[in-house]
Amino acid sequence: MAFSPRPIIRKTRTAHAPPPYNKSLETIQIIGAGLAGCEAAWQAAEAGVRVILHEMRPQRLTPAHKTGAFGELVCSNSLKSELVHSAPWLLKQEMRRMGSLLMRAAETARVPGGHALTVDRSVFSDEITRALETHPRIEIRRAEVTAIPPDGISVIATGPLTSDALAHEISRFTGAERLYFYDSISPIVAADSVDMSIAFRASRYGKSIDQSDDYINCPFTREQYEAFVTALLESESYEPHIAEDRTPYFEGCLPIEEIARRGRDTLRFGPMKPVGLVNPYTGRRPWAVVQLRQEDQRAGSYNLVGFQNHMKFGDQARVMRMIPGLEEAEFLRFGQMHRNTYINAPSLLLATLQLRAEPRLFFAGQICGVEGYAESIATGLLAGRFAAAMAHGWPIAPPPRASALGSLCHYITQTAARNFQPANITFDLLPSLDEEAQTRMRHDKNARRAEVCRRSAEAFEEYLVGAGRETVVG
Ligand SMILES: Cc1cc2nc3c(=O)[nH]c(=O)nc-3n(C[C@H](O)[C@H](O)[C@H](O)COP(=O)(O)OP(=O)(O)OC[C@H]3O[C@@H](n4cnc5c(N)ncnc54)[C@H](O)[C@@H]3O)c2cc1C
Repeated sequence: MAFSPRPIIRKTRTAHAPPPYNKSLETIQIIGAGLAGCEAAWQAAEAGVRVILHEMRPQRLTPAHKTGAFGELVCSNSLKSELVHSAPWLLKQEMRRMGSLLMRAAETARVPGGHALTVDRSVFSDEITRALETHPRIEIRRAEVTAIPPDGISVIATGPLTSDALAHEISRFTGAERLYFYDSISPIVAADSVDMSIAFRASRYGKSIDQSDDYINCPFTREQYEAFVTALLESESYEPHIAEDRTPYFEGCLPIEEIARRGRDTLRFGPMKPVGLVNPYTGRRPWAVVQLRQEDQRAGSYNLVGFQNHMKFGDQARVMRMIPGLEEAEFLRFGQMHRNTYINAPSLLLATLQLRAEPRLFFAGQICGVEGYAESIATGLLAGRFAAAMAHGWPIAPPPRASALGSLCHYITQTAARNFQPANITFDLLPSLDEEAQTRMRHDKNARRAEVCRRSAEAFEEYLVGAGRETVVG
């Protein structure tokens, strides 16, 4: 069983017909009409449940939103790769299979964008707004929500820029230390795209508790460092949304372009310091070094330590590929700086996106610990369906681990709670192939990926037509 390479847009909105509307069912409150909240509202309403969708815009904008439209894309207009057998493709195929409103809107709003699903952002938002405003079971309330509803089923989908009053409430509700304001993220590269004939493994001064503590080091000559700093200083950055947000840069995690502006050598005494390292290929200490730290247990990806930055993604790829050893790097995530509100999902949420301590509350979108547009829509889709299942009195079944949706839920709820950080969907989150398949396809990355997708699609279809009939699709 494999997904068709073409997007599946079904005439029926769900894989099965929605159940008839039952007036006695509890109404679901959904807070936030962003990507996750809109998809959640649609899914719950299509499953036969009445929904109240709360949105504070346009009366109150966030530092990044500019309109009152639903599902506004705050930055790029790309919902990432449509390349067959890529992880973002797999996730989107599953959402299409489950009748996603936002995937349908993206198809209508599509503009040419190479391998990516790129949209006209106003057409996209208009489609979503119209669909929700005209849905007979959705009531829209345009006002800021400042408290968590005291009873009943609710989905909290207020995003990375949740208003201060509600963020405060959530933090009080979940335990103050559990709500994070994360201001910067470093780029992440795929491990197998690092050129290990240039980069080398070592810990500073040889200090390593075990092998897994070792870093990959990308060594610079003086000339390479100078060229890198020049390119960095000439690069173009995104508008600093966070400046308006009154959230200052923490001195400890300045964007690298800001550090470079403070002096050409400042980076060499900061995140690029070479002390305690000897390049085994030259026997000498490099002029500067970029260290890569293992990101996941499978060592499939590494982040560039201290390389949070605000560069536009195109410039960022170009400048980062000047780092020796990263000339062919595949970026799984680019560096970004913005305020980000998210709960510590591994310690707070069940795999069904319910708060352990209060299962009537679901979290979806960026606030539940995923990163990215498609991932936010995906968790909104699940939360909407799960909340509807709860209103119907049906059991709630999370999607299978092998699927992209299941892998996202698994990551945010099963990963180590300490140092938890939001993640995009990548192959690293999907279960690896068994040893036999790994060995058989060890020289063919594309074949391995196709096989992961095939297994994933098989498990997902079983979930849709099998045990999940009542619980998932309604
Ligand atoms: C500056 C910035 C740039 C980003 N750029 C990208 C990018 O280019 N690509 C990418 O994939 N991801 C990007 N992200 C990450 C993420 O994918 C987006 O933030 C995405 O919109 C998250 O979806 P969401 O549904 O969780 O939140 P949102 O889409 O932000 O929706 C939350 C909604 O809740 C509303 N709200 C907030 N508080 C309240 C309240 N108290 N009462 C009522 N309503 C409320 C907001 O107005 C908003 O409409 C970016 C994030 C930020 C902050």
